[in-house]
Parts: sequence; structure tokens; C-alpha cells
Amino acid sequence: MTSPAKGNLPEQKLYIHGRYQDALSGRSFETVNPATGEVICSVQVAGAEDVEAAVASAREGFARWSRMSGTERGRVLNKAQRILRERNRDLAILEVLDTGKPIQEAEVVDVISGADCVEYYAGLAASLHGEHMDLGGDFFYTRREPLGICAGIGAWNYPIQIACWKSAPALACGNAMIFKPAELTPLTALKLAEIYTEAGLPDGCFNVVQGFAETGQALTRHPGIAKVSLTGEVGTGKKVMADAAQSLKHVTLELGGKSPLIVFDDADIEHAVNGALLANFYTQGEVCSNGTRVFVQEGLHDAFLARLVEKTKGLKLGDPLDPKTQIGALISREHCEKVLGYIDLGRKEGAEVAVGGGRPENAALARGNFVLPTVFAGCHDDMAIVREEIFGPVLSLLSFKEEEEVIARANATPFGLSAGVFTRDLARAHRVVARLEAGTCWINTYNVTPIEMPFGGVKQSGIGRENGRIAIEHYTQLKSVYVALNGVDSPY
Ligand code: NDP
Repeated sequence: MTSPAKGNLPEQKLYIHGRYQDALSGRSFETVNPATGEVICSVQVAGAEDVEAAVASAREGFARWSRMSGTERGRVLNKAQRILRERNRDLAILEVLDTGKPIQEAEVVDVISGADCVEYYAGLAASLHGEHMDLGGDFFYTRREPLGICAGIGAWNYPIQIACWKSAPALACGNAMIFKPAELTPLTALKLAEIYTEAGLPDGCFNVVQGFAETGQALTRHPGIAKVSLTGEVGTGKKVMADAAQSLKHVTLELGGKSPLIVFDDADIEHAVNGALLANFYTQGEVCSNGTRVFVQEGLHDAFLARLVEKTKGLKLGDPLDPKTQIGALISREHCEKVLGYIDLGRKEGAEVAVGGGRPENAALARGNFVLPTVFAGCHDDMAIVREEIFGPVLSLLSFKEEEEVIARANATPFGLSAGVFTRDLARAHRVVARLEAGTCWINTYNVTPIEMPFGGVKQSGIGRENGRIAIEHYTQLKSVYVALNGVDSPY
């Protein structure tokens, strides 16, 4: 693989019908390394005519792929997951250059969790089936059929993982997918497309069209596309759903959150602090499910804060390609300014910066979008930093007295992506999570997302689920076939 680190990554074309093709739009943009501000390469933009070409190609791909058996499809996906694992290191470096996240994360999570997903659905592909029901003479059966051409639209925080989480179940079920990566991170989806082709996926079954919101819109509004799966912000989710409604497409939305992490007095303090760090500073805080509202019960609050501050100070921020780095650069200068704006706002609202609170002083990092991991103490529920998704390394600490009180406060948000509870009292843990309004809850850990476990949000954090067996429901439809064995009596 050519390496952008060595400055030799060529202009990236669109990937349509099993090969790179020049965009008919004639337009391009530059993708930038968030840690240095340097241009990695130029990337071509898919306009409406390119999306048209991608749909025509996907139609052909779908015609072949959907007629293959599940076993054959599983074999192709299995080969793809093996290639992903073989190229883990190179792909992880590319992901680091495009996202600014630490290599110590990308090398063990991003590509591997994508490969896990492709492997999981490769295993399920052969066992997808309908049902037969005897009606005492006549009978009916159901066929589980693919939807057709699906659009996947990705966010920039986990680009290759998101591309795998959408394409693997879609392909396992016999669909074709056209994928639009976020414009800030367009590189690894193209590598995934190359890998699928190498693994034997028929041309047209996985096309990649880079671009901005307008490219996404061309997909969500296209009458030839049967389903859209988006990972992005709540506002984008609403627009996508409205556009998709014009042709009544199936829609899956994985959106933002402002999730609560609740620590009771009896929790193991070390584990709870570790959980809070993972829930706020992994991928420099750019994780949708992060538990950014950390509610700690009064009796443990001060000790928890002291240990949290001590451990946060120990986090190593710096060059994302340095294997020792734990906090990388935020995705863009614009996003960095947004996060810094929230930190200023938190101060103005009266929260106390217990650690962090701005950019690092290191001059060598000045051109990158670095923000210190920040803990705000003394927060109140009505502060903007506590209510709004910041999507950066900013933790808000809140204290509480009673179980009832904290459940009500945790649920007082339009979001409902995730939640966490730390306690040694397992009866309480289950009682509390049963009442939390969240799609995914963790007990005594945080942000663990095995591929077998459904993932998604309730309320405004999303619709539908990714991963696990349930995703099959979102990429297939049932056809009922009634069979009469005894002719037709005429009522006339
Ligand atoms: P955005 O919503 O800005 O963008 C997501 C994708 O949608 C991008 O590819 C974007 O293109 C595209 N897009 C934007 N507008 C439209 C439109 N009108 N029609 C079709 N497509 C459109 O999200 P971010 O990329 O900023 O990602 C961060 C957000 O994603 C956070 O809110 C985070 O919580 C959420 N997220 C949710 C996850 C989950 O599983 N629940 C996981 C990861 C992130 P472009 O990039 O060119 O603007």
C-alpha cells in the first residue's frame, strides 16, 4: 500500500463496479491530517451523475449477488475478513492519518472490529432462511429476501469500522451497498472496497462515492435505493429520514448521545474511574456512546474526583503515530474550536475545570487539533456542557444522593444511546438499567461493543440496531407465499 506518511498517496478516485473510476463531476477536495494540518491527498467528489452510475452498477451487482447461495456469499465475506486482518497495520496507519486517533487504538480496535463484523455475518449468511407453516392441507412459507440496493452513510470517528458494520450485514443478506464515507475521512472505505473485490465480491456490490452532504442526499433521495443506514448527528438523521420518506425507504439511524454513567457509593472506585476514563477520552472523546454525564453518589464523590484527576493528568497526548500516545487530535480545526467553545462556556456557566481546560502548550503540536482531556467538576443538569453533545474529551461530573433521583436525572435528555452503572449491588444494577432510557447499557464496564450484541439508540439517538442477529431484520424483507393444494372453490 502506498503511504501518505511518505507523501505518495495519489488522488483518490471513486470506486465503482470493482475498480477506481474518475468522477464525472470533475470536482475534488483535500483530506487533511488532523494532527499536523498537512494535506494527505486530493479526493474526487461524486456528483449526481456519479451516484447514477453507482446505482446502475449496484443494480447489476445485486442481480448476480442476490442469486448466489448464502454459503457462497459467506465464503467471499470470510475471505475479506482474513485480508482485513492481514492488512491491519497498514489500514490502521491510514486510519490514524485520516482521523487523528492514536495508533495504539486503531491497531487493536478499528480494523479488527470491522473484520469481526465481516466474519460474524459471513458465518450467518448460510443460515438465513424463511419459515414453513402447515395449515392442515394448504400451507404457506416465507422467503427472507434482500432489500436491493442499500446506501451506507458514515461518520468520521470510526470510518472503516462503520463501513464494515453497514456493509457486512447488507452483503450477507444478498444486498448491494453504495457507501458514502464522511468527507473528513474518505480513505479507508476505498481500501475496504478493494478488499471486497479481491475476495471475490461481484463488481457493483460495494461501491464507494466520496463527497459532502449533497452526495449523501443524492443517495437518500434516489428512487432506486431501497434502504439508508446513517451514522451521524441527530440533525442529519432527521434530514435523511425526511428525504428517505419521499420513496418510503427503510431507514436505520445511529445518531448522537449524551449518555449517563452512574457510580454508586459501593462501586469499586478504581474500576469506576477506569470506566469513566474509557467513557470519555477514548478516541479523544469522539465516541457516540460516551458516558459524558458522570453521576457520582455523594459518599464517593470527592475520592472519585481526586482519583479521576490524578489519572487524567497521566494521559499521554501527542503524535497519534507514537505507540505511547493515548490522546490524539480532534478531527478538524472547526471541530476543535467547537469543543474549545464548550470548555469556555462551561467555565462561564460556573463549572470548575478540575484538569485540562484548553489546548496543550507544546509548540510542536500547535498545527494539530489537540485538546487536553478535561474534567469539569461542580456541574449542574441545566448547563449546556451537561445537556449537549460535545464529541470531544470533556467530562462533566455531577453528584447525586438517591437512586430514584439519579434515574430521573439520567433520563432527562432527548438522547438515549447508552448508559452505564457501577455498583457492587447487582440487584440494584439490574433494577436501575431496566429503567434507564438507553439502547445499550453497561454494568461495571463501559463502551464494550462485541459484534454479537445489538447496538443502537432509543429516543432521538436512533432507529434500528446494528450488529448481532437483529441487523438481519434491517437488511431483509419477508415474502409470504400461500400454496393451495386442493383447487379453488368458487363462492360465485
Ligand atoms: P454528520 O451527521 O455531520 O455526518 C454524517 C454523514 O452524513 C457524513 O457522511 C455526512 O457527509 C453525511 N450527511 C450530512 N448531511 C447529510 C444529508 N443531508 N443527507 C445525507 N447525508 C448527509 O456526523 P459526523 O460525521 O459529524 O459524526 C459525528 C456524529 O455522529 C455525532 O453526533 C456522533 O454521536 C454520531 N455518531 C453516532 C454513532 C452511533 O452509532 N450512534 C457512532 C459514531 C458517531 P459529510 O461528512 O460530507 O458532511
